[in-house]
Order: sequence, then structure tokens, then C-alpha cells
Amino acid sequence: MEMDTNSGNVARLTREPLHDSFGRFIRNVRISVTDRCNFRCVYCMPAEGLEWLKREQILSFEEIERLTRLLVSMGVNQVRLTGGEPLVRKDLPLLISRLSKIEGLKSLSLTTNGVLLKDMAKDLAEAGLTRINVSCDSLIRDKFHQITRRDDLQRVLQGLEELEKYPTITPIKVNAVAMRGFTEEEVVPFALLARRKPYSIRFIEFMPLDADQLWDREMVLTGDELKAIIERDVGKLVEIPSDDPAETATKYRFWDGKGELGFINPVSHPFCRNCDRIRMTAEGKMLTCLFGHIETDLKAVLRSGASDEVLAETIRRAVLQKELKHFINDGEAFKRTKRNMSQIGG
Ligand code: SAM
Ligand code: SF4
Repeated sequence: MEMDTNSGNVARLTREPLHDSFGRFIRNVRISVTDRCNFRCVYCMPAEGLEWLKREQILSFEEIERLTRLLVSMGVNQVRLTGGEPLVRKDLPLLISRLSKIEGLKSLSLTTNGVLLKDMAKDLAEAGLTRINVSCDSLIRDKFHQITRRDDLQRVLQGLEELEKYPTITPIKVNAVAMRGFTEEEVVPFALLARRKPYSIRFIEFMPLDADQLWDREMVLTGDELKAIIERDVGKLVEIPSDDPAETATKYRFWDGKGELGFINPVSHPFCRNCDRIRMTAEGKMLTCLFGHIETDLKAVLRSGASDEVLAETIRRAVLQKELKHFINDGEAFKRTKRNMSQIGG
């Protein structure tokens, strides 16, 4: 690629804040460290049949660290590691420890299904992890089994208990995907949990990213509907104001509660206008939207021996094409991507 070397612009390439053509600045990168997973959630993966990437196809820790350093020098200050299931990536605490030392990085977090947390929480905390999201869609054993296709609710709950021993990881967030016909009876137990424990429990609307392609608008149980059930059956919620325009969740608490409840409503109330995120798939493809069709192969650039300036320019050009919005609510204009959620990194 031809590089912008005129008029001493090399430093600008690697240091100026990264922004798109709509004036949105990029502060947040989600990095998938593996496409593999020990669950098979129905809203994400097929029961079987996904082909895994080979070891040499996925970014190494060195490559992830180099990319992260560069992105941080361009204004990114939040990194979330995800997958697939990130805790199945060998030696993940090592990567966390390397990333946690990057100056300028304000938040390093992890999204996990929690099944390996009981054994790994200590290593994660010691490595410098400060934030975590644990996905858990049901507090009822059979339903948990039905949705994840694994009978592991107890292990996830034990993982959450274990996390409470490490106060440097805070807050503990629990994410539940909300699906009509499934989540209605989960809402009240989750709300009571948020009243009892200092957890931040967030409901995420089901999005058309399931490998089985069963998503249908009718299956989206909206945040407004969930909130109404909670206020009817548990008690009045008090909104927690946010000063971060890129915050995806609308948050509430109970007057007498320890934790909080959040609603992430990408379908019923899209938040694309303030989106500050980009994503890196496990094999090093950069996506500028969860639903985007354009992929930029940063692994190829990394492995070509390119300088940071060339890498930075590739990233800048791609970010300038960041999608204005998703088109889930635009009828025919919406085209599903070839990837399901575990192949992108949620
Ligand atoms: N395996 C980890 C986990 O489950 O937390 C990290 C990867 S997972 C793809 C990231 C998040 O995406 C999880 O909270 C999961 O519930 C959510 N997710 C997956 N498929 C989804 C879908 N179709 N709609 C909404 N959220 C989804
Ligand atoms: Fe695995 Fe997470 Fe997808 Fe569930 S949501 S199948 S835990 S990657």
C-alpha cells in the first residue's frame, strides 16, 4: 500500500485520534482471542458443524499487543477481550498481563460465559483484569441447559461467587440475552439478584447474529417490556444517569438494592449514533460494525512486515468507512453478515 509520507505526516498517522467520516471517535476495541467455545448457545452457535480456525490463523499475543498499543496511541482507551469463549484460549492471563501494562489504556475487560471462572478468577485478577462481564441467561438449571446446550449453571454461579473475592475486578456484570418466550420468567429472579448482590445485571436484546438463523423480530423481547415486568412484579426502578454518550446500557437501581439493572436495546433503541467501537476477529479481520460486511485484514498487514505507520494508515482508511448504523429496522435493506456472533466477538 502507498503510504501518506508527505509533509511529515508519519507521526500524525499513529498518534492522532481515530475517527470516522461521521465525526465519531473510536475509543473502544473488542478483540476476539478465539473463535472456539465450550458452550453452544442457541442464539449464537449451531449445535455442531462450525469449523474452527487453526492455531496459525489466529492472532498471536504479540500481534494483539502490537495492535492494541497502536490503537491506544490513536485514542482507543477501552479494550474488551472476547470470543468465542476467551477463557479457552491458552494462557489468557499472560495476554491480560501484557495489555494491562499499556499506558493510556483506561479499561481492560473480558466477556466470558463464566464456566472456567472458578479456577481462573485469581489468575485474571493478578494479571490486571479490572472489569468483567459474565453471560448467564437463566437462573433455572433446565432452562440454562436448554439455552447453552450445556448443563453448567452451577459452575457459572460458582465462578460468580469466586469473583467476589477479587475486589479489583469491579463491577461484576452479568449479561442475559432476552428472548420472547424464554426470558419473561427469568426477569424477576434476575431483578431480585441485582437487589441482593452488588452485580450489574444487563439484559441484551436478541440480535440477528445466530448461526442457526432463527432470529425473528417477534423473538425480540425489548428492554421496555422487561422493565415494565420488573416494575410491575418487583418494584419501582430509579434511573442512574450516565455522562458517557457511548454507554450502551440504560441503567437503573432499586431504592434499597445493592446492584443495578441495565437494558441494552440495540434493536428497539439503536445507539449507532454514538458508537465508538471497532472489532477485531480472532483471525485479525477488523470490523467497524457488528453487522458490517466490510472486513479489513490486519493480520495480513501485520505479517507482511509492515511498519506501524502502514498499519495505522490501513486502520484509518477502514475506520473512515465505518457504517452509519445497522439496518435491522430497515426491512430489505438489512442483510445478515456471513458471521455469527462467536465468529465476530460480542
Ligand atoms: N463466550 C463469551 C460469552 O458468552 O460471554 C464471549 C463471547 S459472546 C459472543 C459475547 C456476548 O454476546 C455474550 O454476552 C452473548 O450472550 C452475546 N450474544 C451472542 N449472540 C447474541 C445474539 N444473537 N444477540 C444478542 N447477544 C448475543
Ligand atoms: Fe459461546 Fe458466548 Fe456464543 Fe454462548 S454466546 S456460544 S458462550 S461464544
